[in-house]
Amino acid sequence: MPGLAAPSDLVATAISGTRIDLEWTDWSANELGFKIQRMTGPTGFFRQIAVVAPDTAMYSDTSINPATVYYYRVCSFDATRHSNWSNTAWAVTDGMDFAEISRGDTSRKQMALTFDAGAVPIRPGLLDVLRDRQVYCTFFPTGWVTEQEPWNLVQIAIDGHVIGNHSYSHPNLTNLTDAEIIEQLFQTDEIIYNLTGHHTRPYFRAPGGARDARVLSVAESIGFRHVFWTAGGGDFGGWTVQQIIDNTLNNAGNGTVMLYHCLPENTEIAMPTIIDTLRAQGYELVTVPEIVAPKVISSPPGTINAGWNLISIPIEPATPNPPVVFRGVDIDGRLYRWDKETASVVAYDAWSPGTFGQLSADEGYWLRVDAPVTIKCAGTEVMNDRHIKLPQALPDPFVAWAIIGYPFETAQEWANCQIHNPSAPEPKTRSISEAKAAGWISSMLWSWDSATQSLFDVGIPDDWPMSTQIEPWRGYWMRPFVTGLELIIPKP
Ligand SMILES: [Zn+2]
Repeated sequence: MPGLAAPSDLVATAISGTRIDLEWTDWSANELGFKIQRMTGPTGFFRQIAVVAPDTAMYSDTSINPATVYYYRVCSFDATRHSNWSNTAWAVTDGMDFAEISRGDTSRKQMALTFDAGAVPIRPGLLDVLRDRQVYCTFFPTGWVTEQEPWNLVQIAIDGHVIGNHSYSHPNLTNLTDAEIIEQLFQTDEIIYNLTGHHTRPYFRAPGGARDARVLSVAESIGFRHVFWTAGGGDFGGWTVQQIIDNTLNNAGNGTVMLYHCLPENTEIAMPTIIDTLRAQGYELVTVPEIVAPKVISSPPGTINAGWNLISIPIEPATPNPPVVFRGVDIDGRLYRWDKETASVVAYDAWSPGTFGQLSADEGYWLRVDAPVTIKCAGTEVMNDRHIKLPQALPDPFVAWAIIGYPFETAQEWANCQIHNPSAPEPKTRSISEAKAAGWISSMLWSWDSATQSLFDVGIPDDWPMSTQIEPWRGYWMRPFVTGLELIIPKP
């Protein structure tokens, strides 16, 4: 039996801050439809966002945020098979700040440790120090180093660090043509993605920090923003352990971005003292996307209790990697999502993080902790109404639950939320109560009280509501009876 033909020529076009349009070429004659996967930059994995009808060759993604890099790929499927993936297309939504970063937000007591790898070896002991202390950093490897030491790059990805782009062969970019600069960045992004599942946009660091206005604008044209540094760098020039420590502590300050290298033994030896001292001084050590994120929010005390929790993340995380968002919380085998396609639970497994994928503000998650914790998330406020897709029709409607998240920071009345049903007679968009009356959704709407460790029925607004509001940091179970529904939550 011939394979199913893969779609090709996928193009992603940003239409606004909250809409990207996809178009592709359909080569298969008898597919049942197309599956669309999306990845949010800078670092993470693809997750399915939509299934569209056969012979469709376009899709508009509106569940997205301004100033963000998105990657997409599409496959066709029939009853038994998926095609190969199409090419990957990327787009940046409107509003991205491409100004060079040399310091983060100075109103927060945070610092970012960054490590360049333009030469081999990357010292595994350095990675051990960061992992043991649960410090998430930003690495800038070249494509060449990635090819030489793939095992170390995989480890960096698994450990939850952010990976930026440091060119392929470490040339002085100011001496290259525009086309050569693009090739250096594209090639490296491809190599790192193929190995780790992580794309590098929007962050790059020019080799040696050598850049000019032309280099920055060529990079911007392909979605890259330059990350310079506040201080550091002498570790590559032979600094002693004490000099590396002193230089860091002398430059410690809000928003400081420190530059180190992966090669020098002295950097590895200095790092435990640097980390412990900065933390003792009250600095939080974060990634580059977090240190420039416009917003930091924390779960209120008492929200995440010992035992099971059904939670959501009420902003778009700057780094949607679970280990970074749940920094310091043991999530290995303790964080679960509901896979809409297979109607099964997927646990976060530290050794295969790609299976779990990225965190999304639209989804709810089960989290089991031993003691109450506060979760702190850096990211971007969700800017407009959210359309959350409910699961596809499944053979057994009783397992077709969706665990949805609440993507906003302030509560919204359930009475203001709506359900959209594209296959219904007009009106296709109805209130929650009307959708229930029409048989689109179950009347039961569950959440979880982590204080008492029990399920509670939120209730459709005109039944017996336990809560008239849908709330931040809380996840919900909804049960759709119809395919293709969307829950519309207006921005409060
Ligand atoms: Zn370098």
